[in-house]
Amino acid sequence: MSLQRPEHRQRFAPSRTGPLHLGHAFSALTAWDAARLAGGHFLLRIEDIDQSRARPAWEAQILDDLAWLGLAWPEPVLRQSSRGRVYADALRVLWARGLLYPCTCTRRDIAAALSAPQEGASTLAPATGPDGLLYPGTCRQKTDRSQALERPERVTLRLDTAAAVAWLTAHRDLGQSALLCFEDTGTRPGRQRIALSSLPDRIGDIVLARQGMGTSYHLAVVLDDAHQRVSHVTRGEDLFDATAIHVLLQALLDLPTPRYHHHRLIRDAGGKRLAKRDDARAIAVYRGDGATPSDIRRLVGL
Ligand code: GLU
Ligand code: ZN
Repeated sequence: MSLQRPEHRQRFAPSRTGPLHLGHAFSALTAWDAARLAGGHFLLRIEDIDQSRARPAWEAQILDDLAWLGLAWPEPVLRQSSRGRVYADALRVLWARGLLYPCTCTRRDIAAALSAPQEGASTLAPATGPDGLLYPGTCRQKTDRSQALERPERVTLRLDTAAAVAWLTAHRDLGQSALLCFEDTGTRPGRQRIALSSLPDRIGDIVLARQGMGTSYHLAVVLDDAHQRVSHVTRGEDLFDATAIHVLLQALLDLPTPRYHHHRLIRDAGGKRLAKRDDARAIAVYRGDGATPSDIRRLVGL
């Protein structure tokens, strides 16, 4: 047995859909500080699967701002847009197990199906999960899943979460019929126990590939964290609920579950969360006004 401590690897994974703002800087600096403290590594990944919203110009500014903050990372940077093959392979594996199905519903179809009166249904508001409204399952039985999956990048694919739970129960040796993940520090420290039976109602049939994108955020983040051998995921508390999805996908795809650290969100003076397009708090604006990297650290409470 080796007594070597496992490598500590952190990552920051910005989407290039807007400028780096105070909230991103806080996230990146928190991950960076944790990596430094542990004598580990800090990695960068550009999340650019959504080509319709991603702008290459933002990327240069984001990288420049991060370097200005004093961060450094190994080159070349991992880009999700270069990983289509890996995402497609994972989709094929899940498809071959009968765990995916194509969905042709629009947002409006889903809202309409959920608001249609159902016999015996309560009048409570429709349930929501990490991705918003829980999918009502309209397309679940529409496709013969024994067919080959042609051109996964052309369709929207959902995970049949109940079938995935049944598959895990039959094929993986999971004590207590639950998935576990750990948070060392952060806003929710401790062990999170995710009962398998709770997952269908908790996350619903999540989208794993969006038409024209060949993946979804959830599938890409799980495959990329594993590829970059990320041991510690540091990110905002807004993604806490999505972690149940990620831990489920890791179990299905036989990938390790990193440790998580969800941090508080940076809010504006009115207490509102900073939005992606909150250009007023873009690091570039502070830089232009003569702020130093230490000023930024102080502004976010580090
Ligand atoms: N690209 C995501 C974002 O900008 C990061 C998600 C994550 O850290 O898992 O919010
Ligand atoms: Zn559908």
